[in-house]
Amino acid sequence: MSYHHRWTNGDLISLTPSKIVCIGRNYADHARELNNPIPTEPMLFMKPVTSLVDMSKPIIIDQKKGIVHHELEVSILIGQALTRCAKEQAASAIIGVGIALDLTLRNLQNKLKQKGHPWEKAKAFDGSCPLSAFEPIESFDALDKIELQLTVNGAVRQKGSSRQMLTDIVSLLEYISHWFTLMPGDVVLTGTPAGVGPLHPGDELQIDMPGHLNIRTTVQRSGVE
Ligand code: ZN
Repeated sequence: MSYHHRWTNGDLISLTPSKIVCIGRNYADHARELNNPIPTEPMLFMKPVTSLVDMSKPIIIDQKKGIVHHELEVSILIGQALTRCAKEQAASAIIGVGIALDLTLRNLQNKLKQKGHPWEKAKAFDGSCPLSAFEPIESFDALDKIELQLTVNGAVRQKGSSRQMLTDIVSLLEYISHWFTLMPGDVVLTGTPAGVGPLHPGDELQIDMPGHLNIRTTVQRSGVE
């Protein structure tokens, strides 16, 4: 299985991802909706490269594994290795901005959390990270003004702005780099605003980053029975 990043103009990006680093509870309104405490520092977890799929293709869900929630997130493409870096270096390593869905098996995640077990099965399964193409960083005026919206079957489910993040994007990269070296091609998912909810086969999704990205996609049942 191999995944290739693309720019929004369709060109391939010649960087191979080694991992996806994700942030939990980076928007206060989302932490509250799941009755979670608001964290005092970024909460990190990872997805493997086998979780990556193209968001513009139908999103396949396996309902036998339980309820799959959408988490709409700003995704950041890393262009330079970052190890224990300062903010300036983190800022200059960002080469693209896109959108991701951090798909989550919510009931399974709750069960695993209750038992104090790792939650990888609920977050890192095959296909759990639909990703858009990346818009070059040069086309963004500021990283704290990125708007994001998910519409499911015509109804707005999630709407947020990077301005609402508890930890801003550059500070997140700096923080991550003190634990995990970020490599060129790696992707960082920056947390989800409120409004997470279940996906069902047949759902029509419209995913927007106004001024930058507009994706239409659908949800399909897994053929694996
Ligand atoms: Zn998430």
